[in-house]
Amino acid sequence: MMQHLQGIGMTSLRTRERMVSRLMEQGIRNHKVLDVMRNTPRHIFMDEALASRAYEDTALPIGYGQTISQPYIVAKMTELLLASANPLTKVLEIGTGCGYQTAILAQLVGHVYSVERIAPLQKKAKDRLWDLKLKNVNFLHSDGGWGWPDHAPYDGILVAAAPPEIPEMLLQQMAVGGVMIIPVGMGESQQLQRVTRKDNGYELERLEPVVFVPFLSGRK
Ligand code: SAH
Repeated sequence: MMQHLQGIGMTSLRTRERMVSRLMEQGIRNHKVLDVMRNTPRHIFMDEALASRAYEDTALPIGYGQTISQPYIVAKMTELLLASANPLTKVLEIGTGCGYQTAILAQLVGHVYSVERIAPLQKKAKDRLWDLKLKNVNFLHSDGGWGWPDHAPYDGILVAAAPPEIPEMLLQQMAVGGVMIIPVGMGESQQLQRVTRKDNGYELERLEPVVFVPFLSGRK
């Protein structure tokens, strides 16, 4: 593992520098986000056969029909979350996948609660975060449609799979002043949305078109 973490050739710091330059060209401005993405090895989150492509600006397969989100989307969602007015003490992530977004979040917020419905993906993600010594993360094997009520309310919620509409339980688990970043819609017509919980209700902003894997119910 240590050799993996050091990285060589296509997986080196220089390759990540190029990724970060591209993120800046794409409009990512938050330096905390850019620094963390510069310093986090993305290639250890995928199978060795794909590791050399880890820094391309594309979603790549991680098994079980799922994909690791492209760097731009990870950066964008994280930046949107960090723009929230509340300090991000507790963040709920739905769709751990390979754990890359989880690792980025863990370095920027107080504590991450991450829910995944596919057990083997969750197991691998746990191991990787352990290797990176990121300890401020708890994992739950569950259908994220239920959120994670035990630790609610959350200052931030980040959803990495697209439901046809925003699950009611997630709205309920937001703190007042909290934000949720979530792709909503079916197939090719999905939209990134930001929900902010106010004293007297919820504010919804439609941000940009996106493509995520579908939000599915039940556990596997
Ligand atoms: N940020 C992750 C995204 C993985 S893809 C990464 O970069 O690796 C989305 C993930 O959401 C998949 O792992 C999928 O299994 C999971 N998912 C989909 N619907 C879910 C649900 N209802 N509850 C929990 N996880 C879900």
